[in-house]
Amino acid sequence: MGQLHGKVALVTGAGSGIGEACAIHFAKAGARVVISDLDLDGAKRVLVEVKKNGGEGIAVQTDVASAEANEHLVAETLKAFGRLDIAVINAGIGGPAALTGDYPLEGWHQVINVNLNGVFYGMRYQIPAMLKSGGGSSINMSSILGQVGFATASAYVAAKHGMVGLSKNAAMEYAAQGIRVNSVGPGFIRTPLLTKHLTEEQLSGIAAMHPIGRLGTSEEVAELVLWLASEKASFVTGAYYAVDGGYLTR
Ligand code: NAP
Repeated sequence: MGQLHGKVALVTGAGSGIGEACAIHFAKAGARVVISDLDLDGAKRVLVEVKKNGGEGIAVQTDVASAEANEHLVAETLKAFGRLDIAVINAGIGGPAALTGDYPLEGWHQVINVNLNGVFYGMRYQIPAMLKSGGGSSINMSSILGQVGFATASAYVAAKHGMVGLSKNAAMEYAAQGIRVNSVGPGFIRTPLLTKHLTEEQLSGIAAMHPIGRLGTSEEVAELVLWLASEKASFVTGAYYAVDGGYLTR
């Protein structure tokens, strides 16, 4: 029997990349999965993969930048499975590349809405459902850029730092009621977030910033997320875990 047998796990941004790998890892570990994404076709494609692996789940279209959409996502989860035990708030965007003094205002608001407000909206509706289920594990997808800066990415860096603080706060508030809240900080991972926008030459330059000398894979991040979701991490809350090939050692 899988280590997440009987659990219900929700993953946002699960139609691609890191979220997709998390959903598939969870399903293989026995959880029923709620595959949420702005891109419904992507979510449905991942649901097919989950079912191929013997798993069970639903696909739900959600724009995490909307509070109402997050409320609807939790309602759909409860309607389908009656409980919520694990939530990975993973959906995120890169945003424009510009120095702070030139940063487009619209781009700033878009990144903060998805990458920071989206985390608050998610927890705002997921936590009450987890409390009714007797506790749970929340995992918020930050970044190495939740710990250090990156020139031309001020909105992304601010949002990813902000969600680490938000996660610590919620961890402190709900620890006694059995909800653990942690942040994960991937280094640069080969997903469409990078490959849609960067050339192979640019990706090689980024890979070289990691002492391990390569980009990470979505599966390497999902392994950490699975551990945090499971009872194996029962004494871990309010933490930030890097999975970054050594990027933050510099
Ligand atoms: P990805 O492959 O682009 O997947 C992200 C998914 O989220 C996409 O399916 C995307 O849909 C969806 N999405 C975008 N905006 C959304 C919204 N408003 N509501 C719901 N879903 C939305 O990216 P990824 O690399 O797996 O990134 C996942 C998370 O990891 C992000 O939070 C990212 O910041 C973080 N992260 C990534 C890296 C990296 O190097 N890849 C490093 C550190 C942290 P569309 O395709 O339709 O936009």
